[in-house]
Amino acid sequence: MNEPDQGVDLGLGVRLPRMGLGVGGLEPERTGAVVALAVSMGYRHVDTAQMYGNEEEVRRGVEDSGVDPSSVFITSKVTTGRHRYDDVLRGFDVSDSRLGAGRIDLYLIHWPLPGVADYVETWRALCRLRDDGRVRAVGVSNFGIPQLEVLAASGLPTPAVNQVELHPYFVQTELTEYHARHGIVTEAWAPLAQGRVFDDPVLEDLASERGRTVSQIVLRWHLQAGRVVFPKSTNHVRLAQNLRLADFSLSEDEMRQVVRPQHDGRLGPRPEDVVEEMPDPRGDSVLDDRLR
Ligand code: NDP
Repeated sequence: MNEPDQGVDLGLGVRLPRMGLGVGGLEPERTGAVVALAVSMGYRHVDTAQMYGNEEEVRRGVEDSGVDPSSVFITSKVTTGRHRYDDVLRGFDVSDSRLGAGRIDLYLIHWPLPGVADYVETWRALCRLRDDGRVRAVGVSNFGIPQLEVLAASGLPTPAVNQVELHPYFVQTELTEYHARHGIVTEAWAPLAQGRVFDDPVLEDLASERGRTVSQIVLRWHLQAGRVVFPKSTNHVRLAQNLRLADFSLSEDEMRQVVRPQHDGRLGPRPEDVVEEMPDPRGDSVLDDRLR
């Protein structure tokens, strides 16, 4: 954004930039160059995960950008098979060494995976990592209201964020209202519906009326609704476009027009159907063999 991104307060002095770069599904060979370019252009937040297999390349990209690494907010996530308490702590050490000791700002449970371990146990381990000062904030991803209620009943701290699929075709109103009531920040994965927004005539019309691109309209819609986003792009022009969101705003009517609910707008699996193995961001089901 042209104006400084003030970020969202996660408590204890931690500020999460609202705009970031997602590197899910980005091949390791390309990740370093894309991250270095994005950070040099002004991105200050990178969303990765142990499962993406590109944490070392994220670190190299940040280092190569010429920007102070401590000014770039890094999120990573617990991977499949590392959900039991001691496994979480060991799995965190792997990500911590790949990303650079002490460089993970936010650590998330990637999917609840109740078939691997009790996710309350997983959450307890994340809270310990935060209490020990290994990570600045902790949260979850792909949790629905029932799973968040289980965490609430455990007496453990509330997750700072829940990272969920959210875009114009799948707006998750009930879940985001729950987040708002409980002080949980909504992070939207697939904010551009993995490219589907670009074929939408209503969004195209709105964009041309405003003299913006479809991506700018949709990303501005997310930010105005108070969400955190990290669209993925590997392209210089599109990375720049996605950052230019501060010099316009959408009216209430335009905010409503961006919502394009469809009968089956969800792109990823329903979290309750993912029990033992998490899907990768391209929709395939994978395990990171190097971590077995
Ligand atoms: P996005 O909604 O970010 O869409 C990415 C696609 O949009 C790419 O094909 C990209 O192509 C294209 N694109 C980006 N900007 C523009 C633009 N300005 N104009 C035209 N096309 C554009 O999908 P993602 O699935 O990548 O989601 C973002 C991030 O969310 C991931 O990278 C990952 O970090 C996270 N995620 C988390 C999940 C979870 O379970 N927690 C699951 C899935 C994603 P191009 O590169 O050619 O520009």
